Amino acid sequence: MKVEAITLREIRMPLVHFFETSFGRTTERRILLVTVHTDGPEGWGECVAGEDPFYSEESVDPAWYALEKYLAPPFLGKEIDKGAEAPAMMGKIRGHRMAKGALENALWDAEAQARQTPLCLLLGGSQTEIPCGVYVEVFGKIRDRWSDILLSCDANSAYTLEQIEHLKKFDRFNLLMIEQPLWYDDFYFHAQLQKKLKTSICLDEAIHGARDAQAAIELGACRIINIKVGRVGGFSEAIAVHNVALKNGIPVWCGGMLESGIGRSHNIALSTLKNFTLPGDVSASKRYWKEDIIEPAVEVSPQGFIKVPETAGRGFKIKTDLIEKLTVRKKILRAGVSSAAD
Ligand code: MG
Repeated sequence: MKVEAITLREIRMPLVHFFETSFGRTTERRILLVTVHTDGPEGWGECVAGEDPFYSEESVDPAWYALEKYLAPPFLGKEIDKGAEAPAMMGKIRGHRMAKGALENALWDAEAQARQTPLCLLLGGSQTEIPCGVYVEVFGKIRDRWSDILLSCDANSAYTLEQIEHLKKFDRFNLLMIEQPLWYDDFYFHAQLQKKLKTSICLDEAIHGARDAQAAIELGACRIINIKVGRVGGFSEAIAVHNVALKNGIPVWCGGMLESGIGRSHNIALSTLKNFTLPGDVSASKRYWKEDIIEPAVEVSPQGFIKVPETAGRGFKIKTDLIEKLTVRKKILRAGVSSAAD
């Protein structure tokens, strides 16, 4: 595939209901989308960076800058056959994993269409439906009411080792996991904590790639890993993390980042890999969006499963008219020239 142009665009999507975590409250998502225009199909990717650098150091505006100035230009005019070629082409640039992931995943998206194969198969997946969970608050009350449902807690790095006695109290809730209870960039102290908790620790923020996963597992810092494709820099590294975890008997699940349908469809494809054995929080479109930018919208069955599309590519059509309507800035990059458009 020859990359003829790359479009960066920011859309604004209002949430059906505000979304609140310990990082704060979100009422509208600013989403950076990447379109790779090839001489064949058009691939789409979503940068999952937040509006602010609270979940990680990345956020929408620096991601746009990194893509426009450093990440996208080397691809313009080039022949790229596989999405998996992307990491090496961006290897000189440190960090900016969510920005890199958006571009790499757009190339995989195009590749799947060019090969006329479902994206999930291209990634090496085999599951035909994926189990889903959702974010809830006040889990203590929920556990009291439903004693045997799978329940997890995402601590978003809210604790320190001084609070170990408090953290031990979580064991009574019989949780599947407690996610990233300590510092966002730590696994050494998580290993110390894990020795003292019955509840399994899941690492999220601290895992940026397969090497981190290997180190965390060898230290005993976690028994579960949350894979967010943007956090690790794209599908190639997400697959590598999955494989390290599989080899070490550590189950994984796919974490959502309040994605539009584009990122959501990519999460579904990734979740079909065989070690994604725990429910992810890739939920239905209507839970967050009045109207999603893909069709059909992502739906969850009453039993809590998303059926994986069997059609070629990402399996969902892009609603280009709606995307244009939601676009607040756009830039088309071509080899040797770039143009801004409203
Ligand atoms: Mg988390």
